[in-house]
Amino acid sequence: MSRLFRLLSLLCLLCPAVASAAGLAFQLERLSPDHAASGTAVRAGALDERFTPADTTALRDLDRPTWFRIVPQQDWLTDAPPVLVVRQTRFQVLTVYPGHDAAATTLGALRADYPAHLTRGLMIFPFAAAPRVGVPIYFLAEPGGEPTQMRPVLSIETRDAAEAASLTHVRLAIGTFGALLTLALCGVCVWLMLRESLFLLFSSVVACQGFYVAMVFGEGLSLPGMEVLLPVGGRLVNLFAGLGALCAAMFARRMVDIGRIAPRLDRGFAALQWAYVALLFAVPLAPAKGMFVLVALGNLTVMAGTLMVLAAGFLGWRSGSRAAAFFLLAWMMMQGFTFARTASFLLGTEAGPLLYYGFPLSMVVAGVMLALGLADRVGEMRLALREAQRRAQTDALTGTLNRRSILERLDAARIAFRDIGEPVSVLFIDLDHFKRINDAHGHLAGDTCLREASKRIGSVLRRTDALGRYGGEEFLVVLQGAAGPVAGAIAEQIRAAVAAEPVHAWQQTIALSCSVGVASSSGDALSAEDLIARADAALYAAKREGRNRVALAPLSSLVAPPMLAAEGESLA
Ligand code: GH3
Ligand code: MG
Ligand code: MG
Repeated sequence: MSRLFRLLSLLCLLCPAVASAAGLAFQLERLSPDHAASGTAVRAGALDERFTPADTTALRDLDRPTWFRIVPQQDWLTDAPPVLVVRQTRFQVLTVYPGHDAAATTLGALRADYPAHLTRGLMIFPFAAAPRVGVPIYFLAEPGGEPTQMRPVLSIETRDAAEAASLTHVRLAIGTFGALLTLALCGVCVWLMLRESLFLLFSSVVACQGFYVAMVFGEGLSLPGMEVLLPVGGRLVNLFAGLGALCAAMFARRMVDIGRIAPRLDRGFAALQWAYVALLFAVPLAPAKGMFVLVALGNLTVMAGTLMVLAAGFLGWRSGSRAAAFFLLAWMMMQGFTFARTASFLLGTEAGPLLYYGFPLSMVVAGVMLALGLADRVGEMRLALREAQRRAQTDALTGTLNRRSILERLDAARIAFRDIGEPVSVLFIDLDHFKRINDAHGHLAGDTCLREASKRIGSVLRRTDALGRYGGEEFLVVLQGAAGPVAGAIAEQIRAAVAAEPVHAWQQTIALSCSVGVASSSGDALSAEDLIARADAALYAAKREGRNRVALAPLSSLVAPPMLAAEGESLA
């Protein structure tokens, strides 16, 4: 909670810096567009009566050079003259006449001659003197590239405030760009290791967002070597926005697994993707005049896509997918901003500073959340892999190791203990007269006996020992560091535990016992097969001697194994 509070306070701190537009009050007026005017006549005030109040939509919908004027509503009271700040502008080229016959300043965010000391996201025009109430300042606005749906924001502020706002603008743009590109790079690195294409999609989404932010904020075009892109700067913004939206739709589709959860929505996503592809192809081909319609169409598609992505996240979350929950959280905030921003473009309202600057910040937060979601997904994949490994190693009926795994364990123990000169023993356990148990009580009862026997055997063993099902009702135990009489004693404990009490299964009481053959390897180079063969021979001897007993294999398998304990006898 306190973290959220700190984040909100930080946003509040940022806002005055970026919203310092509250400067001198003025009225924006525009010269009747059909009037062919000479600049000198306009600036001399000869056409003043032809100016009518206008809002910044007139600047957004510019299709020919148009004269505007700013009429201050109050005097500027401090000595240092203020500056005119124009925010959120891309294609307008403005020439401001600062009064008193001072030289005009011409700035256009996509022009190659843009001054190096200014950010392309915030044009600053100095005034020659302090503005006086009712004394107009004229400027000529010309289209310089493809029109956008962004409405410029004009303000008259102190130079200090404008410079502070410029720095905040640059910090936010470069900070966001850097953070998003770092996330994208991390995604690519993880993809290189895991080869899971979802990470590549994640990287594409955040990289597109990063470049989009860099282009929208103008800083991308000020990076070294990027001047060559100035002529297509406007369309690059649209390309990155479209490409980002396409990748986000593909990412959402895969991350939430919509095809499985909601097949109809999945078909909608397929259509959405094609719409994005069509728009992307149209961006470089459309004539300059058609761009406005194309961008409006693009914005409508993005809004539809936003709703679909949120619906997908919600459905995924409802169906219990943790990845979808992360995804929904991440997307909700960012898509909220996308939606509000796109809606403000479509409605032609001014995007406030919170919307303007909150949007890229929300992208970074969303990027981090998505990375967490992906990490969570990788965690789930690892758990699933571990479970698959466990299943591949264990016997389904008894939960002990399966035949292959117990043989691997035996081999590993034999080699490791041979190297340090410690003994390894194998106990071959076979349940007595199991066919009879099956015949008398049924196979299901027989299965219960198998499970119960494995439990009883396991209860005698240490953590370092291994138990596995070798065949039908045969078990193998691998004892590390025990040989001869010690192994025999453990085998006897197992025999006693299995026969300790009857098994209750399917409303029947079944007497259970087992015979155990023991073979040990002490530093000699006996193979696993040799050990098992010797234990099997000992088991055979135990069976022959009447069952429910333990037999130790002799040092040489040619010698008949001695009986260690008979039914009811104790080894101790
Ligand atoms: P002995 O004392 O000589 O070992 O006699 P036995 O009846 O146990 O003889 P044998 O080892 O040949 O018989 C094994 C029987 O175990 C045969 C088979 O029906 C039964 N069996 C094998 N696997 C399973 C199983 O998974 N479930 C059940 N219920 N029975 C099984
Ligand atoms: Mg058997
Ligand atoms: Mg048997």
